[in-house]
Amino acid sequence: MRDQQVYLDYAAGAPLLPEVKTRMDEVGEGLVNGEYGNPSALYATGQRSRRLLDEARMQVALLIDAQPSEIIFTSGGTESNNTVIQAFQRQIIWTTPIEHPSILEPLRKFSRQKARFVSVDNEGRVSPKNFYRDPDPKYCPSLVSVMLANNEIGVIEPVREISMKCRSPKYKTLVHTDATQAIGKIPVDVNELKVDLLSFSAHKIGGPAGIGVLYVRKSAHVRPLLSGGDQERGRRAGTENLMLIAGLAKAAELARARLTEWDKVAGLRDQLRAEILREIPHVSCNSPKEGCLPNILNVSFEAIEGEAIQLMLDATGIAVSTGSACASSKLEPSHVIMAIRGDAEIAHGSVRFSLGLNTTESDIQKVMAVLPKIVAKLRDMSTLKAGEHDKES
Ligand code: PMP
Repeated sequence: MRDQQVYLDYAAGAPLLPEVKTRMDEVGEGLVNGEYGNPSALYATGQRSRRLLDEARMQVALLIDAQPSEIIFTSGGTESNNTVIQAFQRQIIWTTPIEHPSILEPLRKFSRQKARFVSVDNEGRVSPKNFYRDPDPKYCPSLVSVMLANNEIGVIEPVREISMKCRSPKYKTLVHTDATQAIGKIPVDVNELKVDLLSFSAHKIGGPAGIGVLYVRKSAHVRPLLSGGDQERGRRAGTENLMLIAGLAKAAELARARLTEWDKVAGLRDQLRAEILREIPHVSCNSPKEGCLPNILNVSFEAIEGEAIQLMLDATGIAVSTGSACASSKLEPSHVIMAIRGDAEIAHGSVRFSLGLNTTESDIQKVMAVLPKIVAKLRDMSTLKAGEHDKES
């Protein structure tokens, strides 16, 4: 598979790591043989499952410097984010316009009138200056939710600085961060970040899809989204999925061990960026040069559609995405690129390249062998004219 395809869509999902599959197979075998019972059961096989859960919780807690009791297993980043937003419905929430739809959509549903969107600059960064504690507690937010890194452009947000300004037990303001893209790529430490709540998901770090984490600081309480069982100490009802949880724990252990390897990936990403800017006219980068995840590069190609580039790259065996995978079936321009560039044509022409630990220099060369020709061909066919926006670096 790797020989045929150049996979540059790790931000949508990293391939399952072989060590994770082995661990899930072991647990699957145990489930077939009846070695693992329902973790809520008091008999021996139930208790064996309980130990598996405890060990997994410990492994996941280590990745973010939390305590095991502060980890809630969920079905993924979407559920973790939805849980947080629904828990604060009809309360004042401050957030940013570039959050993932799993924050923005529940927010529209539950707290439309009470939401405040703190604007981002042209690199997608919010300024901690725009977060403050209103002297009148009536106007203080109950929740501040700012993603640690953006999924489309990779910009890293100043979450620690924001937490230091907003978090307040006195005013009962809690700070949440969606760390789904940041986890495993940059150090994520809940105490360093001073957050009360944090979401992430296993499939971005080589774990299985359908499992994720909501970290809830011991001092905080979040009303559950799913009720009807005492699992996860009453914070998320439903029988635990042992195979997925064991897979998540293995992926968390490996992510922690491999954190230092991302510098190499950043080097390849910078090489791709430099080559695109050198070889292709009328392009601009939507990912900041500094303060960006090591693996994401988002580029806008003037006068053509990102989707057309994606399809033509796919025909040559190269997988990239336009905007986030979750939004890629929509025709509206990406809300993230619109927020930073304010231009629908630029947003429609954007492509996200996202690299992983298996990306090689040869992958970058394969992209550069075809991309300039694809762009030139599409521009020849386009009714729009490239060159109306200045070339940026
Ligand atoms: N938040 C961010 C920043 C994401 O990138 C994603 C996945 N695209 C999610 C949340 C949702 O995660 P999941 O797919 O595990 O539900």
